[in-house]
Amino acid sequence: MDLLDTLTAKGLRRELPTREEALAVLATTDDELLDVVAAAGRVRRQWFGRRVKLNYLVNLKSGLCPEDCSYCSQRLGSKAEILKYTWLKPEQAAEAAAAGLAGGAKRVCLVASGRGPTDRDIDRVADTISAIKDAHENVEICACLGLLSDNQAERLRAAGADAYNHNLNTSESTYGDIATTHTYADRVDTVTKAHGAGLSACSGLIAGMGESDEDLVDVVFALRELGSDSVPVNFLIPFEGTPLAKEWNLTPQRCLRILAMVRFVCPDVEVRIAGGREVHLRSMQPLGLHIANSIFLGDYLTSEGQAGQADLDMIKDAGFEIEGADEMTLPRHRSDVATGGSGGSCGSGGGCGPCGETPAAEEEESRNELVRVRRRGAGTELAPNA
Ligand code: SF4
Repeated sequence: MDLLDTLTAKGLRRELPTREEALAVLATTDDELLDVVAAAGRVRRQWFGRRVKLNYLVNLKSGLCPEDCSYCSQRLGSKAEILKYTWLKPEQAAEAAAAGLAGGAKRVCLVASGRGPTDRDIDRVADTISAIKDAHENVEICACLGLLSDNQAERLRAAGADAYNHNLNTSESTYGDIATTHTYADRVDTVTKAHGAGLSACSGLIAGMGESDEDLVDVVFALRELGSDSVPVNFLIPFEGTPLAKEWNLTPQRCLRILAMVRFVCPDVEVRIAGGREVHLRSMQPLGLHIANSIFLGDYLTSEGQAGQADLDMIKDAGFEIEGADEMTLPRHRSDVATGGSGGSCGSGGGCGPCGETPAAEEEESRNELVRVRRRGAGTELAPNA
C-alpha cells in the first residue's frame, strides 16, 4: 500500500506526514488494519525497540473539581460515584508510588484534581516528590496539577519533578464543546510554561468524545508542534454521572488506527496507551503495544485497570520487554532536551461518535460493566493494584 510505505519511510526519517496522509490512516478499512499496525510497528521499533515503559498513577486529590470538563468523572456536578478525598500526605503518596515501582513502573505520575495548584499545593507536591525520591533515587516523577501560574513550573523542577502533564485533549476548534471553565489557549500556555522550565512536556488527547477525524489530526499536529516528549492517548471512559456517559462509539480497530496515526505524526515520541485501554482495546491490547511504547500499570485515577500482573504478562506474551530504570526512554536526539515523557491525565478516556443509535439495554449494561470505579489503592485502606 503506497500510503503505508510512504508513512513508514517518513517515520523512519522523523519526517512529518501531511494532514491528508494522517487522515488517510484513520480512513483505512478493517482489511488493511494489520498492515497499518505493522507499518506503525516498524517506526516504533526504529525509535523504541521492543521496550515498554510502565507509568504508575497516584491520585493525590480525587474528585470535587470546580472545572467542567465533560469527559471527567471528577468534574463540577459529576454524579459518578468515584472516590473523593483531599490531598494525600507525602508518606501516603510515597507508599502508593512504592507499590507501582515494585511492580515495574519507571515513572510515577502525581495527579491532583482542580483548576490548578496554589503555591501551598506546590509545597505539598514538593514534599511528596522528596518522599518518593528519597526512597527511589532513579524514579522519574511527572506532576499533573492543572493550569500553572508563573514560576510554579520552575518550583516543581527545582523540587525534583522531571516532567509535567497537561493534555490538550482535543482540537482547538472543538475545545469549547468539552469544557467552558478554561480554554484551549490556557492549556497550551501551561504546556509551554512546563517546557520552558526544563520539564519534559507530556501532553496528549482523548479520543471518543464525538470529535471528527479532522479534530484528531489537528490535536496530534498541535502536540507535535508544542514539542511534547510524550503523548498519552486516552480513549474516553464514559462514566455514568457525566455528560458523556452514553458515548460508546469506539471499537478496538478504531483505537488501533488512532494510535497508528499518532505514531506516524510523532514517530520518535513516547506514545502511551492511557485511560480506556482495557475498556476499548480489550483483547486487542497486545496489538496496541506494536504501536505505542508506553502504558500505565494497574489502575487509573478514578477507575480500575486490569490486574498489574496481567499487564506484565501481556507485555511478555506479546514479545516485548519492560523498560528498565537505567534505559533511556527517548531516542538520544530527543533525550538531550528531555528526561522522558508521560503522565497521568486529570480525567479519563471515553468514546463517542455521531451514530445516533441507542444501544440495546443488554448491550448498555455489559458496556457499563467494563467501567469499574476505583475502590483500592491511594485514598483507601486497600492495597494498590500493581
Ligand atoms: S480533567 Fe482535571 S480540570 Fe477537568 S474536571 Fe477533571 S480534574 Fe478537573
